[in-house]
Parts: sequence; structure tokens; C-alpha cells
Amino acid sequence: MIDFDEYTVGDHRAACPACSKTPRDKSLGITILAHDHGIARCFRCDFVQLRREQRELSPAEKLAFQRRMEALRRQHDAEQRQRHAEVALAAATRWKAASPVDSHPYLSAKGIQPHGARIEAGHTLLVRMSDVHGHIHNVQSIAPDGVKRFMPGGRVKGLYCPIGRPSGRLVVCEGFATGATIHQDTGHAVAVAFNAGNLLAVAKSLRAKFPCITLVIAADDDWKTEGNPGLSAATDAARAVGGLLAVPNFAGLDRGEKDTDFNDLHRLSGSVEVPA
Ligand SMILES: [Zn+2]
Repeated sequence: MIDFDEYTVGDHRAACPACSKTPRDKSLGITILAHDHGIARCFRCDFVQLRREQRELSPAEKLAFQRRMEALRRQHDAEQRQRHAEVALAAATRWKAASPVDSHPYLSAKGIQPHGARIEAGHTLLVRMSDVHGHIHNVQSIAPDGVKRFMPGGRVKGLYCPIGRPSGRLVVCEGFATGATIHQDTGHAVAVAFNAGNLLAVAKSLRAKFPCITLVIAADDDWKTEGNPGLSAATDAARAVGGLLAVPNFAGLDRGEKDTDFNDLHRLSGSVEVPA
């Protein structure tokens, strides 16, 4: 929650209490009017907080409020575009400097092939994050112990790592190891969307690029997480693009709490299938 008393009359930018990971992130716009009416609105998530006094705002004041918040949003969007462009340049440079990889502890641990991933500084695996035109905007780094990171401040939404060439069917999933397993076991082309929150944006971009292809959204079944975010995001994405939903079926297997995706299923069962 925002404490409006901390802000003077006027317009401000601040970190969002709902979605910002660092205090330096200024995704929240705050507008305080002279008589203490105030609004805080996040330009990235759906966080909104109002401060209302007894008196109703006049139509002119409401309009002024809206215009000032719009100006803050434009400022935020311009800064974000600038940051995204800087990170995209740095990502392309890192990608070019990295080398093709044959073996890596993460690939061995997951039982997967590199599928175009590269290696940086002899130990960090890099996975490309491209748009539908094939342009790299960011990279996911995977340390030998499996810790994954995006480049801070870079774009993530709508970006994916392509594995294989789409023909008739294209599978969208969350993680690189999951995508590699699905491609290896089924031969289908895969788009790795990196996390549940990005499945919808990636599925929509791919639907626009391939209007006639069958899209299959391969869910992570977060069975031990409240609300099952993986399954619910995959269901939404499949619905939005008229795609199929594939859920890993662990029935009859000795499933651990952390077994959620098709890579885990392969480890337990030896192979995976997605609907044909
Ligand atoms: Zn937010």
C-alpha cells in the first residue's frame, strides 16, 4: 500500500508495492491534487490505490487528473522502451560472444540436448529470447547449479526461444528444459515462453504469425501451489488462441512435490506425449 502522506502535491513516480522487485523500479505513477485527492496507478500490473476526501471531484478536476496520469504513463513507457533497447543491444552482444555448447551440467541434469543454447565464460548457459521476427531482445542465463536469470530491465513479454521448425503444430511451454524434452520426445516445434505469465503473450504473437497452425499449450501442473498458476495460465492462453491444452499426466507414477512439468514426467516415465 502507498502512504499518500509521504508525497507532496504534484506528480511522482515510485516502485509498485505489488510488482516492483527493486526500489529503483518506477512503474507506479502517483498524482496528488491540492486538496489531498490522490491516485496511485501501476503502469505494469493492475495495482490502483485511491485517496478520497469527502468532496467529490469536479469534471474539470477529473479530466486534469486523467491527463496528468497519462503524462506519467507516457514518461514511464518512453523510459521502458529506452531500457529495453539498451538491454537488447547488450543481449545481442553477449549472444554473439558466446560459443556453441555440447555439454553442460544443467543439460546433463535435465537429460536434454542444447538446441542452439550457447555457453558464456565457460560455465553459463545462454538461452536466446527472441521476438517473432527472430530478433534477440534478452537472454536467459542458466548457471551450472540451475539458477536462471533474465537481463535486468530487459523485455520479457512476448519473447520466446524457438526449438525446431513449425509444421502444422507448435507447442508453447514455460521452461527451456520442458521445451527441449517435448521436442526430443515428440518432434514438434516448441516455443519456450520462460514463465507462466508470458504464455498468453507468446501464444498470441505466434497465432498472429501462424494463423493456421495448431497451437498446443503445454502446462506446468503446479499441483502443490495455491491456485495452480501454471495450469491456469496455460488454460487461459489455450482459450485465447483457440489452441489445445496439454497437461503432464503423472497418474501411477511416484510423483514428488516438485514434479510439475513435462521434463519431470520424462524423468519418471521415460517419455512424454502431447495431444496429436
Ligand atoms: Zn505493479
